[in-house]
Amino acid sequence: MSIELKSPAEIASMRHAGKIVANILEKLAALVKPGIRTSDLDDAALEMLKSYEARPAFLGYRGFPKTLCVSINSEVVHGIPRPSRLVKSGDVVSLDFGCVWNGFYGDAALTVGVAPVSREASRLIETARRSLDAGIAAMRLGGRVGDISNAVQEDVESNGFSVVRDFVGHGIGRALHEEPQVPNFGKSGTGPRIETGMVLAIEPMVAAGSGDVEVLADGWTAVTRDGGLAAHFEHTVAMTDKGAEILTLSGPLS
Ligand code: MG
Repeated sequence: MSIELKSPAEIASMRHAGKIVANILEKLAALVKPGIRTSDLDDAALEMLKSYEARPAFLGYRGFPKTLCVSINSEVVHGIPRPSRLVKSGDVVSLDFGCVWNGFYGDAALTVGVAPVSREASRLIETARRSLDAGIAAMRLGGRVGDISNAVQEDVESNGFSVVRDFVGHGIGRALHEEPQVPNFGKSGTGPRIETGMVLAIEPMVAAGSGDVEVLADGWTAVTRDGGLAAHFEHTVAMTDKGAEILTLSGPLS
């Protein structure tokens, strides 16, 4: 499959979808407190989507059973919300959320520490957040996807953490996962050329330990093999003539 470049009108739809995702994620992040069930967060996400006339991106995707992914501590991505899973003080909670609006997808993730968190946990979260910024800053017209991968990896590893290699960022548009893959490791100057109309979900998954992961028996939840903490941040980013534009920023819908 080839890389689908988007027109300005298509990017406008993706901007709308992205804002819905960001607005909901922001509200969900504020709900992450000790005692909340991860299924409560999922219910809230689905309920909020209704007011935006959007539909969930993950529900039913390859059989995923929920609207939101909630991955706690050693869980890296794709944690399935459930009533028996309560958030606790000190937890590192990653929320990954996507929606479809007018046929276009938005996808974003963030990680919150539930106070009080360890020094290592807060440094991990901050590093993951900043490595996403570094990846986005490396998304330049005429550059290569490997520039993004390399920027994320350098930032993470220079802080003594590891990138997770088994899961990658991706192109996004009329499908949740499109070409190209956007690994969180790689060499600058390699990979597909970054062109106007390219839209990428850039999503560093960062581990305090080795970054090796395994998938639990539920078929979804990816955890670190060494049990170390993990954090995850993601934005949907469009390459426009004016530069890289983050589509998953919160704000009023026009
Ligand atoms: Mg994604």
